[in-house]
Amino acid sequence: MTVELRSYVGGKWQVGGRAAQDRNPARPSEVVGDVQHADARLAAQAVDAAAAAFPAWRSLPAPARGDILRKAADLLDQRAADVGRDLTREEGKTLAEGIGETRRAVQILRYFAGQTLEPDGQTYPSHTPGLFLYARREPIGVVSAITPWNFPIAIPAWKIAPALAYGNAVVWKPAELVPLTAVHLLQALVDAGLPAGVLNLVLGRGSEVGDVLVTHAAVHAITFTGSNSVGRALQQKATEKGKKVQLELGGKNPAVVLADADLDQAAEQVARGAFLSAGQKCTATSRVIVEAPVLRGFQERLVALAEGWKLGDPLESDTRVGPLVSADQLKTVTDYLDIAVHEGGHMLAGGSRAAELGEGFYIKPTVIANVGPDSRVVREEIFGPVAALLPAASYDEAIQLANDTLYGLSASVFTNDLTRAFRFADEIHAGVVKVNQESAGIEFQVPFGGMQESSSGSREQGKAAREFFTQWKTVYMDRVPARA
Ligand code: ADP
Repeated sequence: MTVELRSYVGGKWQVGGRAAQDRNPARPSEVVGDVQHADARLAAQAVDAAAAAFPAWRSLPAPARGDILRKAADLLDQRAADVGRDLTREEGKTLAEGIGETRRAVQILRYFAGQTLEPDGQTYPSHTPGLFLYARREPIGVVSAITPWNFPIAIPAWKIAPALAYGNAVVWKPAELVPLTAVHLLQALVDAGLPAGVLNLVLGRGSEVGDVLVTHAAVHAITFTGSNSVGRALQQKATEKGKKVQLELGGKNPAVVLADADLDQAAEQVARGAFLSAGQKCTATSRVIVEAPVLRGFQERLVALAEGWKLGDPLESDTRVGPLVSADQLKTVTDYLDIAVHEGGHMLAGGSRAAELGEGFYIKPTVIANVGPDSRVVREEIFGPVAALLPAASYDEAIQLANDTLYGLSASVFTNDLTRAFRFADEIHAGVVKVNQESAGIEFQVPFGGMQESSSGSREQGKAAREFFTQWKTVYMDRVPARA
């Protein structure tokens, strides 16, 4: 079934705009939705609508804002099976992942609903007798949220929920590939009673509407998740205009398998990190650094999983790995597989498109050996189900290889040695560290973000989210002198 997908600005669905089609990556001939893309003028209207709605929204008591988020969570929970299915139809991750991600968005909405009851400031002892000195967190104003396609409901939820909970108005531009999931999240919030203009959805191309959302005078802050090139360019434009910017960018995340690791556990977790969601996670595992004595044993196990996990239609319940999201991604990943071969890489598993699965954008889970630390497939983000193996002679060499990257989002180590686990947690340059767990898979109540080129600005999620979506106001409240 095909649906009509439009932007939502100032409390109204907006008709008109350039036509585009939302397609199923498992069967690209299937059109999931007919989209009307917004132009720059509509994007500017969305910012104006948010600016107009902001004063009343910030004046609403925070717990009342929380009630709306909680109601939206309940509605999304009731709809999770349908929303998750639509997410799978337009993005390509498995149905279990699509529904799981939708339920994660529910949890995030509930969590930030709860945060509206938390203390919003601090009192301080003053040097002046009788003075009441306090500092309070206030919203920043209009926030532009620009989101990617790989977590089409969880990432928007973890930006939009705190933005709204803390009293901001939002203009949201989801990635062009996932408009249907975006409409579902917006609809839950609208059905829960969000006032017109408080959240505006702009469906459109980054190149057409991006500049307005980043540079418009009424926008105070931009929260972005996506590629390094787009993120850095946007950051420059926004900071020139004095706006607050938060970026979550790429990763080239290592998993280090030490000689004392449980190899079955390590292989299972590395396969999950590298191949689930077809490797299209910024926290996916893409470099696997293995201590020499266990290289062969680990490699055999990982290859068995790569070849054993079912690649196929993500709506089928036994599928573990679905298609890549688009023809562009398919080209990027197949180009990297060619590069790996030219660099002398040896494909231990996969290494090509699964042409037998028809028109879908399927890449076989791939394990590459015999590539050096300076090869492009070891240095650059691929965003596909591809793991490169690197042998290490010792722990010291392993940590040196793991840190030999410009990125720093997440990292795993597999060991039963407490001392080495602590050393790794201490020495690795990464914002998220996992011991005996895959590098992907994060919880919403803790800070999330990376080091080096992976992130910029304050952390997302958990209580850390408040840092970005609010600003301090410090109040010196003195008395009028008592007169006799
Ligand atoms: P990805 O590799 O995840 O597609 P992108 O950085 O291309 O990463 O996209 C992330 C988000 O940024 C998407 O919503 C995309 O439409 C948006 N985007 C792309 N170009 C621009 C731009 N020039 N200005 C603002 N947003 C943009």
